[in-house]
Amino acid sequence: MKAIAAVLITTVFAVPALAQDDNRWAIVIHGGAGVIERESMDAETEAAYRAALDAALDRGGEILSSGGDAIDAVEQIIRAMEDDPLFNAGRGAVFTAEGRNELDASIMVGDTLEAGAVAGVTGIRYPITAARAVMEASRHVMLTGEGAESFARDQELEFVEPAFYFTERRWRSMERAVGEMGLPLPDRPDGAPEPEEVEEGHLDLLEREHRFGTVGVVALDQAGTIAAGTSTGGTTAKRWGRVGDSPVIGAGTYANALCGVSATGTGEYFIRLNVAARICHELDVIDRGAEDHPYAAQDAADTVIQGALTDLDGDGGVIVLSITGETAWSFNTPGMYRASWGSDRDRIVAIYGDEE
Ligand code: ASP
Repeated sequence: MKAIAAVLITTVFAVPALAQDDNRWAIVIHGGAGVIERESMDAETEAAYRAALDAALDRGGEILSSGGDAIDAVEQIIRAMEDDPLFNAGRGAVFTAEGRNELDASIMVGDTLEAGAVAGVTGIRYPITAARAVMEASRHVMLTGEGAESFARDQELEFVEPAFYFTERRWRSMERAVGEMGLPLPDRPDGAPEPEEVEEGHLDLLEREHRFGTVGVVALDQAGTIAAGTSTGGTTAKRWGRVGDSPVIGAGTYANALCGVSATGTGEYFIRLNVAARICHELDVIDRGAEDHPYAAQDAADTVIQGALTDLDGDGGVIVLSITGETAWSFNTPGMYRASWGSDRDRIVAIYGDEE
């Protein structure tokens, strides 16, 4: 598979306070990476993405500044993004070639290395909550398909009808992809709205802008615990029970005592490179604890994304957070929906590669 763009984007920002700060908290969020360019984004869509990222920061800041747990910030923000049709997670997820939404999510707590994940679930409203339930209420790390759903029912999690996830633009993207693959077009799901008129040119834009849209959050709470989580519908027109990196601990999500990562991009590359865990390992090598190295998270992210991932022709990006409160992102696509905030820095919301 070929890389979407050879644009190398490195972003360094917000040096964390290095003095010990007991009330320190920080958060970094992504809403997917891909061909997201100014020329192809209309003002209304851009404003909607910025507002969604802003709202996600508000929610995280509210939880973390009042002493809440990182894991709660991660779960709550991702739930809101799963409900938002702008993102490829929960409602608004991409469709498989059979016209279904198969959702993946994972969550991890750095201190204890506890983790949970679900893959290929089709009726759970909040896959991230199911991942957390796997972590907290089972002896396992990853549950898949019907088994995961049966566990979620035992846990009394909320279920929805397939049409709940439906969005016209994701359906059209899938139809196009399936057409190009020479496969039969699936029937619209029961309960889906009547087809809307969408201009052909607009469809091109939608497809380019919204090929991705996975969501991820990494948070550091005032107790010094890092948590990370990721949720996705995967890739458009996926087949054969394909599972990407998002629910794979170490590939799409990872957290330890010093570092947390959530990834987005073509999952096959992130799995092969073990991207999320590799970044935390790099950060550890650069400077254990990173107190003396204010850009350790940025350097670690760039080493893996601009180095190993790009060398392999993989496309996508990551958000990273270190125990010092440093947040970083690195991506090799033209854009990534992203935002960060912390007790010692201003909030940032950005979309395009040339923003800070
Ligand atoms: N990483 C996700 C997957 O491969 C897709 C994405 O992040 O856009 O399933």
